[in-house]
Amino acid sequence: MVDPVHSPARQYPESYYATTIRERVPVTTLDGSISAAVCIVGGGYTGLSAALHLARRGIDAVVLEQFRIGWGASGRNGGQVHTGQRRNQYWLERHLGKSAAHAMWDVAVGARDHLDWLIQNYSIDCDLRLGLLHADHKPSYLRDTRQYIEYLQRECLVATDDYVGGYLDDRGGHLHPLNFALGIARAAHSHGAVLYEDAGAIRVTRKGSGWEVTAKGGRVLADRVVLACNGYLHGLSPEVEAHVMPINNFIAVTEPLGEDRARFLIQNGYAVSDSRFVVYYFRMTADHRLLFGGGENYSYKFPKDIGGFVHKHIRRIYPQLASVRLDFAWGGTLAITPTRMPFIREIAPGYFNSSGYSGMGVVLAPYLGRILADAIAGDRTEFELLSAIPVPRFPGGGALRTPTLIAAMSFAALRDRL
Ligand SMILES: Cc1cc2nc3c(=O)[nH]c(=O)nc-3n(C[C@H](O)[C@H](O)[C@H](O)COP(=O)(O)OP(=O)(O)OC[C@H]3O[C@@H](n4cnc5c(N)ncnc54)[C@H](O)[C@@H]3O)c2cc1C
Repeated sequence: MVDPVHSPARQYPESYYATTIRERVPVTTLDGSISAAVCIVGGGYTGLSAALHLARRGIDAVVLEQFRIGWGASGRNGGQVHTGQRRNQYWLERHLGKSAAHAMWDVAVGARDHLDWLIQNYSIDCDLRLGLLHADHKPSYLRDTRQYIEYLQRECLVATDDYVGGYLDDRGGHLHPLNFALGIARAAHSHGAVLYEDAGAIRVTRKGSGWEVTAKGGRVLADRVVLACNGYLHGLSPEVEAHVMPINNFIAVTEPLGEDRARFLIQNGYAVSDSRFVVYYFRMTADHRLLFGGGENYSYKFPKDIGGFVHKHIRRIYPQLASVRLDFAWGGTLAITPTRMPFIREIAPGYFNSSGYSGMGVVLAPYLGRILADAIAGDRTEFELLSAIPVPRFPGGGALRTPTLIAAMSFAALRDRL
């Protein structure tokens, strides 16, 4: 399962995060045939958290990661900590009814509490900072956020003229995503989970009452299997891929700007996330660089010059940074669903999937990993709630879903520019 457009096996992409790793995790390589109660495919937040919560209960869990722990979106993302679901409460009430919408809010609050619990309980060294500004870039979006404008203007929280309003989420914030992933991995290992790198799963097949996962280096016989591959699934499960679609998103990091300039550009160390369809999200790093995410594409190819691609978006928000040097630029693949609600399912007896967090996985993915572990251990309450949320297939099926998605996404992104 070597992914031709990303980094070679065993390497992280050349990101700011990879050069600032502090968390270390004991890993091993697969050599031959092993058995386990649960085999988890994918070493990002979902898979690692599922492993942690299974191992905490004394259930024997192994993780197969095709490259390195945290190699996927979990080690490359913007690190923005959101509260809530990808859809707001109005949408949830309209589509699911009041009581399910309230239950989804409770899940989101549980997910946010879970993030704090992980970081505190396992002393994960990942620079968590609180405060997330949601900024509106169009006057017509102001109706719901009007009461916050005065506050934002008065406080001059972001030194840009591009936004007309917004609101502050003081439970939102940002963190170092790769150290967060590696910290969860360390926690899972401390409870006995075994983590295999360079062990891409090639096939999952029924074997008696359980499952056989054939992978690079060997195979795993397991009672249960968890797919936790999100945007990197690449053919392992056509059923999941009918509902969950990969998209690429890009990040650049500037040279260090110095403490004063960094504080002027964004007050109070907050993260910012805006109202564009293709969201601009940005924040300062611990060493006062601007880390800026903006721009996405829907093909298997990344732009040749990712720095140049992101820089045009940076200039839009901060014209004063037109000549800033970019020290890092990289891309990653996340996954969306047609409704932007996660796709958590038992796709066959004992064969589970969770993915499609639609850009909100820093908080949601570890929590849904926990929900999978609970379900496998016999407590299916939250699993039943979430797996009952309808997530239709993408129109067009396997062959046509990409062109259909590109057309829909490009149109929505165009509306942002009007
Ligand atoms: C550029 C970017 C910016 C983002 N910014 C944010 C943000 O600011 N806030 C937020 O909440 N979310 C953000 N996201 C989304 C978030 O990163 C994801 O939702 C989250 O990391 C998903 O975690 P995961 O464990 O499900 O998947 P991943 O972290 O992608 O992990 C999946 C893993 O599965 C492995 N894998 C795939 N196939 C196989 C196989 N056959 N065998 C073995 N292993 C396999 C992959 O190598 C990968 O490591 C962003 C994503 C990107 C790409």
